[in-house]
Amino acid sequence: MTSISPDTALLITAAGLSRRMGGGVKKEFRFIKGKPVLCLCLETFVKTGLFSSVVITMQPEDFEEARFLLNSCPGGKDVVLVPGGGTRQQSVCKGLLYLKKDNPEWVMIHDGARPWVTPDLIHSIYEGMKKYGACVSVVQAHEAMKEMGSGDIINAHLSRTAVLAAQTPQAFRYAEILKAHERAAEEQVSTVDDTDLYHRYIGAVHTVPGDPGNRKITFNHDMENHMRIGFGWDIHRLVPGRPLVIGGVVIPFDKGEEGHSDGDALIHAVIDALLGASCLGDIGTHFPPSDPDLKDISSLVLLRKTAALVRDEGFSLGNIDCTVILEKPKLSPYMQSLKAALAKVLECPAGHISVKAKTREGLDAAGEGRAVEAHAVVLLFK
Ligand code: MG
Repeated sequence: MTSISPDTALLITAAGLSRRMGGGVKKEFRFIKGKPVLCLCLETFVKTGLFSSVVITMQPEDFEEARFLLNSCPGGKDVVLVPGGGTRQQSVCKGLLYLKKDNPEWVMIHDGARPWVTPDLIHSIYEGMKKYGACVSVVQAHEAMKEMGSGDIINAHLSRTAVLAAQTPQAFRYAEILKAHERAAEEQVSTVDDTDLYHRYIGAVHTVPGDPGNRKITFNHDMENHMRIGFGWDIHRLVPGRPLVIGGVVIPFDKGEEGHSDGDALIHAVIDALLGASCLGDIGTHFPPSDPDLKDISSLVLLRKTAALVRDEGFSLGNIDCTVILEKPKLSPYMQSLKAALAKVLECPAGHISVKAKTREGLDAAGEGRAVEAHAVVLLFK
């Protein structure tokens, strides 16, 4: 049994731009089984009790969302976010420099996009690090490995036992890996990973058998089994004597939605999209107009209940995109507040919710000002 050490820092790298995933939600912020990838990673390390401090390198524009996600994750509130650099090597270097004030004896470096790291693997690398000063886990490559010559010609056929793939965590004596990074920065040397740096400037890196399950999320297909899409639509008549409620915000106007509830067409479309994505039926099944308790109820209450149903099924929200079709009044002054109202109820960052407004150019019921219509699509992760 490994004793708890107060002298090992954890450095998680999450400063990449997820280019190979085609942009969109950063891979560390995507959800697997209801948890953000970054939190899955962190949780496994924190539970081992081996780490005195945690630093995550990240681009500053992602800090706000990271903080939001980390707040609901064990140990997340104690994490320090450090601005990353232009390359992984530069980001790690910045993280190591930040740790200088704590001067830990050891540091373990891990990719934020490897959420399937296990406690056993962490312990095994930890033991190797303490014994040898530097340790990494390695696995056999799935494919036959080739060294390329000029153009598209193979130069050498590499032995499967001699060529292995290095994973993370990679663990080192802190002062040594910092020194290697500082020297590489001075000499403007770029390397494959931290073991390459250590080997170049300090010495031998020992290995332990890796875990093939500890893979790195790189492409969309690494996650696509966990995505679900849903669509919702709604329309309500506009009549005098009723408040106009859109996305939970009351908008001053001389007409409002007719309906058993408050008639908030936007929220109803979002509810149907959420229920659709999780195959849980539709709004009428869960909130029938025949239910007297729902008379004039705020649709935000219905949305909160729907979000809980969807969460109970193990889904978490990726993003929502909506369009409201309304001839009058203009919605632009209310957009920020209605997006914030939705985000609050759905317990997600406001940046995950998009609401657009259109008119129907005078055509049909919405165009003639007799109705408000809304469309929504949602992406869920499981
Ligand atoms: Mg409705």
